[in-house]
Amino acid sequence: MEYQKITKQPLEQHATKPNLEDYQTIREAFSWDAVSRELDWFDSEHINIAHIAVDAHLQTERRDKKALVWESTKGEVEEYSFADLARLSNKFANVLVNETGIQKGDRVFFFLERVPEIFIGILGTLKAGGVIGPLFSAFGPEAVNDRLADSRARVLVTSPALIKKITDILPGLPNLEKIIMVNRKQAPDFSGALAYEEAMGRASESFEIVKTGKEDYAIMHYTSGTTGKPKGAVHVHGAVVGHYATAKYVLDLHPEDTYWCTADPGWVTGTSYGMFGPWSNGITQVVYEGGFSARRWYKFIEQWKVTVWYTAPTAIRMLMKAGDDLPGQFNLDSLRYMCSVGEPLNPEAVVWGQQVFGMPFHDNWWQTETGAIMIANYPIQDIKPGSMGRPFPGITPGILDDAFNELPPGREGNLAVRPGWPSMFRTYWEKEDLYQSRFKNGWYITGDRAKKDEEGYFWFVSRADDVINTAGHLVGPFEVESVLIEHPAVAEAGVIGKPDKIAMEVVKAFVSLKEGHEPTNELQHDIQKFVMKRLSSAAAPREIEFIDSLPKTRSGKIMRRVLKAKELGLPLGDTSTLEDD
Ligand code: AMP
Repeated sequence: MEYQKITKQPLEQHATKPNLEDYQTIREAFSWDAVSRELDWFDSEHINIAHIAVDAHLQTERRDKKALVWESTKGEVEEYSFADLARLSNKFANVLVNETGIQKGDRVFFFLERVPEIFIGILGTLKAGGVIGPLFSAFGPEAVNDRLADSRARVLVTSPALIKKITDILPGLPNLEKIIMVNRKQAPDFSGALAYEEAMGRASESFEIVKTGKEDYAIMHYTSGTTGKPKGAVHVHGAVVGHYATAKYVLDLHPEDTYWCTADPGWVTGTSYGMFGPWSNGITQVVYEGGFSARRWYKFIEQWKVTVWYTAPTAIRMLMKAGDDLPGQFNLDSLRYMCSVGEPLNPEAVVWGQQVFGMPFHDNWWQTETGAIMIANYPIQDIKPGSMGRPFPGITPGILDDAFNELPPGREGNLAVRPGWPSMFRTYWEKEDLYQSRFKNGWYITGDRAKKDEEGYFWFVSRADDVINTAGHLVGPFEVESVLIEHPAVAEAGVIGKPDKIAMEVVKAFVSLKEGHEPTNELQHDIQKFVMKRLSSAAAPREIEFIDSLPKTRSGKIMRRVLKAKELGLPLGDTSTLEDD
């Protein structure tokens, strides 16, 4: 089906004048240096993300403005002004320095629910010069272990409910010196941990923020690739220039906005746009502790009068499934602008936004490695439903052939970006060769395939690798295969992404069993549970197909390409390197 362009009103007809008034003019005039001068640097070389996000507002009229309004699943509400966040994050920085002895560059990881303490803790760690590593609270022990071991994290901030999942891995983490337990109202039940509440109670409210260099490491987010364990993409303090500029021009944040980002703080969207982007712009953001629920989400928008909403395609598709009538039961008049990221946003969803909310969803594209939005739809630009939009003003993407030469418009190829923007990752933690391998011919190769049209709009085609994108979570097939073969009944496993209407892809595993095991339903469930417990529910195969043997290359590598083609009923392609038998 052909979707018509959604034409935007001329500038003067917008109720809120867009920050990006004219794409072409801003694109031509844009310079990262100029935009970075809007921020409060210590000097030309030194900047600290937490200072920009919070303390820089203290000398302004935003000092007592609400920065964070948090609502729990039970409906309890807590509100924090910029001054509150400054004070509390100072305390946390003191806790880290005085009670754990962390030094600049030490890794402090967070395995915590979506509670105010994760925001306070992250800001405090950055103030103290530590490197933050947020972990998705739905992770299982294996996923947490891989990340804590690889990063050699010194401190873990967690909760009584979550520590239960990972007690078995702790003895195997010699670098992890301290656990800080955020008890909230739960009883402390883990001896040897530092109780957050008590430590915060004795900590001073004043702290001199570490004057980090713009290239000092600040943030680590682990991301999955085709092979090997997840890798830590490392971002620097100077990245905040990118968070700030993109939140201003793409999310179009204005001082009077109430902004809601639905991403979990464990993922890059949850930090770049659930903390640093909005707060560096001095914006009030609301946070809901719980996960997806169509009713609850609409109620949340109504209750807090959300004006700008940043969410994800799987959630939008689930809202569509919940029905067109449901939004009408709530007063959603406050909404003025909606954005989406993380997976391809189908054109139906863009148009559905227009029909049901009176405005389209604005898709944008970026990834853990890019640290900030690279390609986007803007309030002032016409939307071509199904397109990711046009490059952010300071960004030059291109479509390259397999020899890494740029292709003309209309041709499908590798999506690449010219390096050099502030929020770009600086390395994969202790995997410099892998990092370098992502650069070819003066381009950063994103791992996605896309097309560009004559008007400069980019269209996502697929991943170039085997990585599975399920509900916006990247899952490395290798990680899942490694866990599968640890199951006592499994001999070999191959994992692919199977297309799905809601989650875009779900994990499907092809499994061959060891002698003496029968392919029963019980065994299938047992294997699913096994992966879910160790990695996460997103990584657990939704479907398992038992087969006698897996297609392999002569060197023994499982050919996922063949499994995928088989699943989709496509021609098997070149199978000349398959096993002979
Ligand atoms: P992550 O690094 O986990 O944030 O995932 C980034 C990947 O998600 C990208 O490389 C794409 O494959 C996919 N992705 C993110 N945003 C979009 C989008 N707007 N359209 C299509 N795919 C997207």
